[in-house]
Amino acid sequence: MFRTLIIMLLGLILTIAMLVIKYKPVYVVKVNDEILGYIENEESFKNKINEKIINNNGENIDSVSLYKEPQYELELIKRNKETNESEIIAKLEETAITTYKFYAVTLDGKTQEYVDTLEEAKKVVKKIDSEYKGNDLDLDISIDEKYTQNAEDVKTDNVEVAETSLEDEIKKILEKQEAKKALATINGINLSVLPVSGTITSRFGESSSIRSSTHTGLDIACKTGTDIKVIADGKVVFTEYNGSYGNLIKVDHGNGVQTWYAHCNKIYSNVGDTVKSGDIIGAVGSTGNSTGPHLHLEIRINSVAINPQKYLYKK
Ligand SMILES: [Zn+2]
Repeated sequence: MFRTLIIMLLGLILTIAMLVIKYKPVYVVKVNDEILGYIENEESFKNKINEKIINNNGENIDSVSLYKEPQYELELIKRNKETNESEIIAKLEETAITTYKFYAVTLDGKTQEYVDTLEEAKKVVKKIDSEYKGNDLDLDISIDEKYTQNAEDVKTDNVEVAETSLEDEIKKILEKQEAKKALATINGINLSVLPVSGTITSRFGESSSIRSSTHTGLDIACKTGTDIKVIADGKVVFTEYNGSYGNLIKVDHGNGVQTWYAHCNKIYSNVGDTVKSGDIIGAVGSTGNSTGPHLHLEIRINSVAINPQKYLYKK
């Protein structure tokens, strides 16, 4: 009886010894029941995952996560079978999800430019702010933090490119805002102000005993010395006494558009002056062929006088 027990015990020890010689305990790493390989130590393996995949703080990377958390199962495998930690890590890395961070500079809520870092975005905004300071820029500029998992889908620009592109965009937006504010637009030229306010005394095309031909402008009566404002941005091209026009100021606005201001009492501008709409260029008078103080306003497109009331003083 006792002998039998000893023999059984010896047998057991022998079996265990054979097992230990032939097999070793390892962890099987699985993802979705697919075996990726074998590792010796679960803890140190997890640390390696964290170090090599999760905490991979590359440029513009916000976070890295595993597609699926692996499962670990303790198993005995043949001693001659190799563990393959780095191979498993490489496999996991392939499926890891990387989230990239970048920044959008937006104008009025519309994304216009992407840059890689917050510092770059701030630089761009600062440049624009300094450029348009005091320009009563009616535009909301902001920086938005953005994320993507497809870095190749997002085209970020460097600071210089972003600045140039945004400045071009702002110019377009400002032009649109100006056009909206404008009283009228002729050939892309915004007429933003009325030259004077007063009473219309003679309309375009009317005949009169004091003129040899039909009226080429619009007469607005007002007091002598009243400021005459140029109605659009442009360049002064003529400031002389000119027969029946009296003291005449001609302003060229580009695109073939000119405005003429006649019978002036005084001329405050000079040929070559660049003027902004609303600038005072002269004073109302009654010089030339005139029976009382008034502004004779002409609008000419490619030298042809058109009816100003198509655009201004419509009532
Ligand atoms: Zn007139």
